[in-house]
Amino acid sequence: MAKESQSKNTMEAIVALCKRRGFIFPSSEIYGGYNGFFDYGPLGSEVKKNIKDAWWKDMVHRRDDIVGLDSSIIMHPDIWKASGHIDGFSDPMVDCKVSKLRYRADQLFFAPVIVADETIGYVSVLEDNYMQAKAEEAAAKMKRKLAKQGELAPIELKEYTAAKPEEYALIPSPGTGEPGSLTPPRDFNLMFETNVGALRDETSIAYLRPETAQGIFQNYKNVVDTGRVKIPFGIAQIGKAFRNEITPRNFIFRSREFEQMEMEYFIAPDDDLWETVHQEWITWCQEWLKSIGLPEDLIGTDVHPKEKLAHYSRACTDITFKFPFGEQELWGIAARGNFDLSQHQAHSGKSMEIFDEARKEKYIPHVIEPSLGVDRTFLALISAAYHEEEVEGEKRTVLKFHPRIAPYKVAVLPLVKNKPELVEKAQALYKKLQRRYNVFWDVSGAIGRRYRRQDEIGTPWCVTIDFDSLEDDTFTLRDRDTMEQKRITEADLFALLDQQID
Ligand code: ATP
Repeated sequence: MAKESQSKNTMEAIVALCKRRGFIFPSSEIYGGYNGFFDYGPLGSEVKKNIKDAWWKDMVHRRDDIVGLDSSIIMHPDIWKASGHIDGFSDPMVDCKVSKLRYRADQLFFAPVIVADETIGYVSVLEDNYMQAKAEEAAAKMKRKLAKQGELAPIELKEYTAAKPEEYALIPSPGTGEPGSLTPPRDFNLMFETNVGALRDETSIAYLRPETAQGIFQNYKNVVDTGRVKIPFGIAQIGKAFRNEITPRNFIFRSREFEQMEMEYFIAPDDDLWETVHQEWITWCQEWLKSIGLPEDLIGTDVHPKEKLAHYSRACTDITFKFPFGEQELWGIAARGNFDLSQHQAHSGKSMEIFDEARKEKYIPHVIEPSLGVDRTFLALISAAYHEEEVEGEKRTVLKFHPRIAPYKVAVLPLVKNKPELVEKAQALYKKLQRRYNVFWDVSGAIGRRYRRQDEIGTPWCVTIDFDSLEDDTFTLRDRDTMEQKRITEADLFALLDQQID
């Protein structure tokens, strides 16, 4: 299991760097933290903003067919009735009555241990990339402990949701390692409830939105009526979403408060059309991820099999990413038919039909929905960017962020701090750069140490102002990834930044 400990080490190193350098802190840390919630520090808030700005620019500003929206987080509770979230937005959970721990039943796997055709017990494991090996190891241990002779049958893991009622009591709890304490799976609604208004009773219950998409659907008619859009068109939104996840885990990968970047693309209800448009969006999303610096070989796809689709869904493809803890969903791209709009039409009594000028017909459009988590994108970017290298016998930690994503674009470093003309010249350049970019100013310490500090937070370039700069008006430009240095003029520096950042 060397690979597992290696990826665990990488995750631990990333989490530690995030804390140490001010990217991400556990929320409410002075009160012991709060599971599933995180705070983004000075550098993290910059990265997050850069991700959102890049998405908005490419998704909304640089396209003629997509407009933006910023809807409220708390909406009329009937919206969640219509969308199916009140009745169906749940995960199956299972409790351990002894350890009081709670698991997602679809992330808990079990198998009978069969030796020479006799079931000698059960093993259970939590879902991860190594669960098969872990289960086989536990089964072999059980066989040895019970001194059973004969051949161990292959271990076939199944989700706890597929266990037969008589098996619940036989499957060991991951909390105690012993059978007898797990409950049957039960549905657990993931929406956070709150009350709106002075009265706290059944009638005042409202929900924190578990996705931003419904804000788009309930406003779609308003946007159409503003007259700027014609089928096919999209409405994009970035905003917070909340899910009371049973098992928040893997740092910011699965949290209880997170941000989504969602877009609903409305198309004609043409049977031949949606597959093409769905595929176009899958390609667009893959290209976008590459454009902000995710390596192609870490990006994959997971096409949901027909039998696992929600009843209204025609197709769903996830773009996956190879995180240090395994390949997981990053971006879901769903073909949702006209389910949401039809539901809102039925529940609100308002027509959701649109008149298509080109086709001269009225219909409820169908939608393609690419839905991406900001925090998950952050984690993918920092996992891909994180490198430990050996340079001249010393360890160098470097975040190889794409310049568009890096929190600081450039650091300005006067070679020495006790030479006023030199510091003044550096300040003048710093102020000029600051008007366009987030720039770091650092005067303290040996120049090599200052470079390393910038490497660790992912600053793509350092500019050093030295004695030659006073003579010939050029600076030393140092590249983060190659560590190469060259002389550059101010005009060339601005041209380079302009070209590389955007
Ligand atoms: P999962 O299966 O991982 O729970 P999902 O299929 O429920 O995700 P969607 O409802 O499709 O997720 O949400 C769209 C996107 O929002 C996901 O691809 C992911 O990037 C992000 N997302 C969803 N849940 C969370 C969460 N708890 N924490 C962080 N990001 C999330």
